[in-house]
Amino acid sequence: MDSPATLEHYKAGMLLSGAGDSTGFKRELNYSGPDIHEAKKQLGGLKNITVKLPDWSVSDDTDLHLATAEALATGKKGEELLQEVALHYVEGMKDMTGREPGGSTIMGASMLKPGTEGGYRIPYNPESGGCGAAMRTMFIGLSPATLEHYKAGMLLSGAGDAIGFKWEFNYSGPDIHEAVKQLGGLKNITVKLPDWSVSDDTVLHLATAEALATGKKGEELLQEVAFRYVEGMKDMTGREPGGSTIMGASMLKPGTEGGYRIPYNPRSGGCGAAMRTMCIGLRYPRPEQLSSLVAVAVETGRMTHPHPTGFLGGLASALFTAYAVQRRPITEWGLGLVKEACPAAKEFVKTAGYAVEETERDWGYFTEKWEWYLELRGLSSGTGPVVWPDPYGPAERDKAYESFSWSGWGGSSGHDAPMIALDALLGAGSNWEELMNRVAFHGGDSDSTAVIACCCWGLLYGTEGVPPGNYSNLEYRDRLENSAEELYKLSH
Ligand SMILES: [Mg+2]
Repeated sequence: MDSPATLEHYKAGMLLSGAGDSTGFKRELNYSGPDIHEAKKQLGGLKNITVKLPDWSVSDDTDLHLATAEALATGKKGEELLQEVALHYVEGMKDMTGREPGGSTIMGASMLKPGTEGGYRIPYNPESGGCGAAMRTMFIGLSPATLEHYKAGMLLSGAGDAIGFKWEFNYSGPDIHEAVKQLGGLKNITVKLPDWSVSDDTVLHLATAEALATGKKGEELLQEVAFRYVEGMKDMTGREPGGSTIMGASMLKPGTEGGYRIPYNPRSGGCGAAMRTMCIGLRYPRPEQLSSLVAVAVETGRMTHPHPTGFLGGLASALFTAYAVQRRPITEWGLGLVKEACPAAKEFVKTAGYAVEETERDWGYFTEKWEWYLELRGLSSGTGPVVWPDPYGPAERDKAYESFSWSGWGGSSGHDAPMIALDALLGAGSNWEELMNRVAFHGGDSDSTAVIACCCWGLLYGTEGVPPGNYSNLEYRDRLENSAEELYKLSH
């Protein structure tokens, strides 16, 4: 797999765009490819071309690409940014001697009036179909995950948990939507104690995150996680932990050899691992770290959920946040899970040599259900377009989530909690309220589906458009944001 774009890649992208411009510019007005190839040969081939002044200047393309980039680099947004870009284009046109700008560019830029209202707009021009816009906008697509995205991911996962938890045991999406309306809508919900506490999901997500934040590795890390799960179970009053979590954690013996493993449990396919592993993707976000992500997700997952449906759910949540950091298209996430991460996990289970036979025996359900879901949504090849039922409101979603589920309670298993999270992320885009409608206000295990989706959403979109009341006074806000900072430092 390719590594994600680093600072060096950003620098290479900008630098080589200029180099390509300059090299291509030499031949811009020669209309024969074979002639240009012959001319290149005369120069001793591409490897012999030393791009420098005065013979190899950049053209208008780089001049205006730089204008766009330098305007974006001011950090301005909205109208202010557009004014800044317009100003840079006007200025850029003063640096065009020998650079051959196109006709629409010359005419358009001459009509810009940056600094005046709407001065970044020009009259419609039916002749402006040239490549002058395409040549200068490459930098706009690059907005990598920052520390703020990490903090938003951890914080909003807790907010989603607290909001979803309110209705964890209400089995009707339409009823929950009505209840939210009675409260004045999502924007009116102020999440704080005592009415809006986080559930077991966030307590144990924090346990995972704070263990990872120690920077420990290998067995030492697993002992640390086990220790914090045991500690976390002391903070469960009113938080409704699941049965496998209670039982599994009670069997952990951190500090003793192998004390982070419990006996195989064929009934541990619940979502208890999936709800607490998102931070693993924040610790190991890069494609080349997949094997670490897999090892830590599998081993921490089976501390309470040794059934593959349980711990592969933990793998899915960790993988999806890593994909969010990578800016991998959401339409590919499910395919990556089934085709890349699950096979790696299967190999890892063999190598680790623990409960291999039982795990392989029970393996099939998780991947079969995921393949079924990807087919249903038209995502089997990872490209879409996503196929949606019509209509797909609260009542229809309850039915759909039930069909994803193992026993009728959507999101309560390892496979369908991340599945509902993904379904909601695909459908909501950057709209927080729509995300919550789909992932927190449904008749299934709403806190666990929300804790996963909201972590991914924060990593993608930050806190933009989220009513501050939804998270400002959230229980454990400091711990969530602090662990985000530590995980960012360890991973960047
Ligand atoms: Mg919960």
